[in-house]
Formats: sequence, C-alpha cells, structure tokens
Amino acid sequence: MTTPAVFAGLGPKLKAQYTAALKAGSLLFTESDVVELDDEDIGIPFEVRYAPALAKKPTKADGKGTNDDDARPADKPADPFAPPYQQDLFVAEETVKEDDDDSGESFAILLNKFCVTPRHFLLVTKEFRKQTTPLSPLEVFTAWSVLKQLGAREKHLAFFNCGDESGASQPHKHLQFIPISNGMAPFDSFIDAHKPAKPQTPFQLPLPYANFTALIDPPSSASRPDLVSYLGQRFVELLDLMIDHRRRLSLSDPAALGLDADASEQPTRGIRLSDMSYNVVLTQRYLHLVPRRREKYLTARSSLPVSINSLGFAGMVLVKDERALDEVKEVGVLEVLKQVGLPPLDIVDAHLGEDGNELA
Ligand code: AMP
Repeated sequence: MTTPAVFAGLGPKLKAQYTAALKAGSLLFTESDVVELDDEDIGIPFEVRYAPALAKKPTKADGKGTNDDDARPADKPADPFAPPYQQDLFVAEETVKEDDDDSGESFAILLNKFCVTPRHFLLVTKEFRKQTTPLSPLEVFTAWSVLKQLGAREKHLAFFNCGDESGASQPHKHLQFIPISNGMAPFDSFIDAHKPAKPQTPFQLPLPYANFTALIDPPSSASRPDLVSYLGQRFVELLDLMIDHRRRLSLSDPAALGLDADASEQPTRGIRLSDMSYNVVLTQRYLHLVPRRREKYLTARSSLPVSINSLGFAGMVLVKDERALDEVKEVGVLEVLKQVGLPPLDIVDAHLGEDGNELA
C-alpha cells in the first residue's frame, strides 16, 4: 500500500480559500512594485519589493504589538497560530506520521493574514512549540512534502525565521511558503553553478556573508522513514556548520558576534542553539541556512531601517520607504545582506576535513 501524500489536494484548497478570504476582507493583501536588481558581479537576480503602504503598519519595534492588528490586553498577547483558527484563514490540518507506529505531529495550514505575495501561507504546529527550537526531521519532511506536492503545478519556496535577529515576529512555530512566479528562485542558478562534486557535501557559496547549503536529492525509492531521516540529517548538518562557524568566529572575530574581546568567558557565550538567530530557505532541491548578526540594515546615508528575514537570503528584499529603496539600489542587495549576516570564514574550511579532503 502506498503512503498517502501529505496534505493531499492542497493546491486547489489554497487557491479557493485565498480567493474567499480576500473577498471577505479577512486577509489584507498589500500591493507592491518589484524592482529587479541583478548583481553584476555574481549574477544573482535579486528582487526588491517596494510596498509603501506597509510603512503605516505598526511593528513589534514600535511597541504596538506584532503584525496582527487585533485589539487585545497588553499583558496577554494573542497567539494567532493557536486553535481555534480564524475560519477564513484556515486551509487544512493533518497529523503527519513517520510510520504507522509513530504518534506523529499535527500541523495546520493557514493563510498569511498580511500578505504582499498572493497565496502566502503558513505551516504551523498545532501544539504550541517555540519558534526558537530547531526544525525537527518531521517538520522538515512535512515542509518539503508540501513543496513537492505544490511543485507539480506551481513551484513554491519555504522559509523559517528563527531567533530575535532573524526577522521573526511570532513565537509560535511556523514555516512560511510563497509561490515562485517564474518557477525559479533568485538563488537557484547560483547554487547550481557552485554545487560540490559530491552532492551530499554541505557547502558554502562564495558570498560576503556566512551561508551553508545542502542539496536535497533523496533516492526515488526512499520510504517515508528514510526520507524523514535524510531530510532531518541535511538540516542538522547545516546547524552543525553554523555552530562551528560561530565558535571559530568567537575566537577570531568576537566583535562580529557582538562579543567583548576581553571577556574571558566569551567563547561559551551565546552558544545555546535557541539563542542563535538564523534564516532557512527550503526548496524542493536545497536547504540554505544563513546565521544572523542583526535583524535590520540601516541605510548608509539616512539610517533608514530595512528589516531582513529569510526572504532576503532567498534574494527577495522588502522595502517600505522610497528613500530606503534608492539607497538599497545604490549599495546593492549583497551589501545589505552582508551587513545583517556574519562574516564568512575560509570557504574551504567550512566543508573540508582537517586533511583537506571533502567530508563524506
Ligand atoms: P514572522 O514575522 O516571520 O514570525 O512571520 C509571521 C507571519 O504571520 C507574518 O508574515 C504575518 O504577516 C503573519 N501573521 C500575523 N498575524 C497573523 C494572523 N492573525 N493570521 C495569519 N497570519 C498572521
């Protein structure tokens, strides 16, 4: 017997629910203009989305709550991802099991209430789990299965903002998904051009910030338990590289981590995974992880804040202010990403063993 697909029939449900929610006014779609900013040196076709209407929206930093505008007592922030769900935004729910003996994990799919891209949706855990916990193998598998299923009709990209400096605003664990309009995410070709000879080796792209990528190419005959473990392993390899990177930076460039060069205890500070901020981009073909130094880029001339989340590291930056847009155009997206990421260390070190051979 074949294992049923995860969230079977999701594509049509998403489309129908999105149209209904928009019509009912339960979902706020913000218009934006997309400016293509190809980086001439490395050839990544960055996209900068300009959405002036968002400049009026209160943010977490304003002390006016998160990006949900429902009135609520100040001492009791509502959890928009906890049941009962706002019916118009609810798309599906399912308990995903690794195998028949597994009790599994339950997820819901909700439409993003404040979207800039049509059919932006979220995969949330039904039980409350902290956004600062790393993705479990079953969570990576569920997200990848959703991408795979939707990808038969329309390619999507998933992302996970983790930690205070990652651009995350909701503490309840969630991954987000957006359709890729032309079927190619901005980093796809760059990743293809730099993939290592051994596809199972995680690698660092030659970029001015630390980044780690694992290709996803499971055997077509892999069973569900094999897939769960394969995808979980790919993700853990990236976390492992990030932890090692931060450890080496704490010794060679502590200021990059915001550490005091004289503090004797500093190599152990901020070492808990749940204290680290990072972004994850997931497509059907790769996992890409970027450790974060800070959430906001401040423009060089006017010190205007530009908040960057995982989508920035997928090549898509959102700006709400015309002056900020002009200044981002002047410096280029890569410079923005460099300022909010961590300095890279020797690319060779990041994926080679001590003997200089690629890690198996
Ligand atoms: P992040 O800011 O990365 O934590 O992502 C949270 C996402 O949830 C944002 O894209 C918000 O637009 C979205 N959001 C906020 N409140 C709600 C809500 N009540 N229902 C659905 N989506 C929401």
